[in-house]
Amino acid sequence: METKVCAKCGKALPEKADKCPACGETVEEELRCPKCGGANIIPISGMSKAATVAKWGIFSIGKAKAEHRCRDCGHRF
Ligand SMILES: [Zn+2]
Ligand SMILES: [Zn+2]
Repeated sequence: METKVCAKCGKALPEKADKCPACGETVEEELRCPKCGGANIIPISGMSKAATVAKWGIFSIGKAKAEHRCRDCGHRF
């Protein structure tokens, strides 16, 4: 059985926890990158979304629904 850890702070989580008891981060269920299959996924905050729009302009609009980013390959989904 795999131990789940918090994607934000890396602490071990109780099996049925829906939030990290340490930092309050919402626990995502087995989130995997659709591109590389990596599980090293981080949620994209509203702030980084805005930064993405500022950086990529119109090209990011079609990806406005992306809510997570893969730390391994940088893929957003
Ligand atoms: Zn945490
Ligand atoms: Zn990836």
